[in-house]
Amino acid sequence: MREWKFPIEGQCRCGQVRMQITAPPFLTMACHCRGCQRMTASAYSLSVAVPTGGFAVTEGTPVIGGLHGPLQHYFCGYCMSWMFSRPPGMDWFVNVRASLLEGADRLAPYHRDLHQRKTLVGRNRRSAQPQRFPVAC
Ligand SMILES: [Zn+2]
Ligand SMILES: [Zn+2]
Repeated sequence: MREWKFPIEGQCRCGQVRMQITAPPFLTMACHCRGCQRMTASAYSLSVAVPTGGFAVTEGTPVIGGLHGPLQHYFCGYCMSWMFSRPPGMDWFVNVRASLLEGADRLAPYHRDLHQRKTLVGRNRRSAQPQRFPVAC
């Protein structure tokens, strides 16, 4: 996305939980870790790391899902969409599921993260230098 226009609105599948981004994200990324593969039932997940002060849930009350551990994954309690995560010890940002945002088709991942060597998409040679990123997903 060349130019950010705020606010950026987002919602879960059913629309009962809505969120808003009002500050430029630090990073957009595609994560291919096993956790994201399992949480999304897909080859990877797309996320946007947003400064905590630039993120708000504007409607509904998300519930904790996923691992129920220190890394908190927030879901819509009705449709069970995975909406965002708050990584422990990194309270300065919220990792928002990019696919839930309006205009998500313009959010190209800047960083592709391959935590595991044998991921479904890990054989993609475009990512010649798999790198580790602090787990936030
Ligand atoms: Zn929902
Ligand atoms: Zn991941």
